[in-house]
Amino acid sequence: MSSNPASFLAGTLLRQEVLDLHAYHVPDSSGYIKLDAMENPYLVPPALRAEIAEAVASAAINRYPDPGAAPLKEKIRAAISLPHGMELLLGNGSDELIQLLALALNKPGATLLSVEPSFVMYRMIAIFTGMRYVGVPLLSNSGVSNSGTPNSRAGDFSLDLPATLEAIRREQPALVFLAYPNNPTGNLFPAEAVAQVIEASPGLVVLDEAYYAFASDSFIPHLANYPNLLVMRTFSKLGMAGLRLGFLAGSAAWLGQLEKLRLPYNVGVLPQVVAGKLLAHHEVLLQQAQQIKHDREKLYRQLHEIAGVQVYPSEANFLLFRVANATAVFNGLKQRGVLIKNLHGGHPMLQNCLRVTVGTPEENERFVHALQESLHNE
Ligand code: PMP
Repeated sequence: MSSNPASFLAGTLLRQEVLDLHAYHVPDSSGYIKLDAMENPYLVPPALRAEIAEAVASAAINRYPDPGAAPLKEKIRAAISLPHGMELLLGNGSDELIQLLALALNKPGATLLSVEPSFVMYRMIAIFTGMRYVGVPLLSNSGVSNSGTPNSRAGDFSLDLPATLEAIRREQPALVFLAYPNNPTGNLFPAEAVAQVIEASPGLVVLDEAYYAFASDSFIPHLANYPNLLVMRTFSKLGMAGLRLGFLAGSAAWLGQLEKLRLPYNVGVLPQVVAGKLLAHHEVLLQQAQQIKHDREKLYRQLHEIAGVQVYPSEANFLLFRVANATAVFNGLKQRGVLIKNLHGGHPMLQNCLRVTVGTPEENERFVHALQESLHNE
């Protein structure tokens, strides 16, 4: 028995799933070149900042936020060209929406299925909401699927379509999450394969387009083709990580029901005001995304040329790469003032893998330089 009465009580009262979980770890980044969290490295131009400051100054923070957030939704609709007849549901970041979906679909014994490695919150939220979780491995670089089936189209971290379809048939998941492009691997699964997953799924499929601004494809234009499809996006990677704003897009039949689980004031007055201003100047954010895509290609080429680094293609604002000793390189980078993400130990397929967010050109140069030094001194 614990000597601390509060720990003892917590240990007896809390659900075992919660006791077994490890909290989502966010390291202290102060003082580092911060390339660990897929943030946009750019601030908005001074004129727009002044406009935002003025709007914030007159915001009614003494009042609860507009629960329907209609003006903000209108701006989002326009910015993403939401097809006619489709609706939006806003979240305090898209993490909150993953949780809302799990709560909504969690009938006794219901399963949440995703692929692995992918965004860790799918599994974590499934576990703490008490859903069954099934992760279908992506293909590894041996070119052989983890189910043992040789696959001529195999590439690193590509979707194992036969194994995924088989898992869907076997597990009958109530909820499927596919990140499109995938995090932490950065690749975009082929649209035809994703379409087959949606068509084969008896449950709801959520395509998580968190990295849409850096990718070459989206399922938003195809929402009306699939009664079991929702697309989820976040503005976190587009320069608004601090605001916490994500959304689900799809038919009113789904979103009208899911609205019942949304906490009434989940998007605050200030995020509504500021995101509204930013989306009115959506082109500024898209230009920044364009710059990041351009710099991603340069960074990819630079990493590709470094001996001892295997870099993977990406349609997101980060690059996944493998080295001989990820932890040594991660620590070497940290000593040189650069913080990236060490994925080693997170999943067997991510052995000795690291993930770097594309920063400003200067930050990228500092990172490449520090990486070369860290590799030499390993
Ligand atoms: N989905 C994916 C695939 C992500 O990588 C992330 C953030 N890392 C999120 C969702 C959550 O984003 P947010 O809660 O900031 O909207």
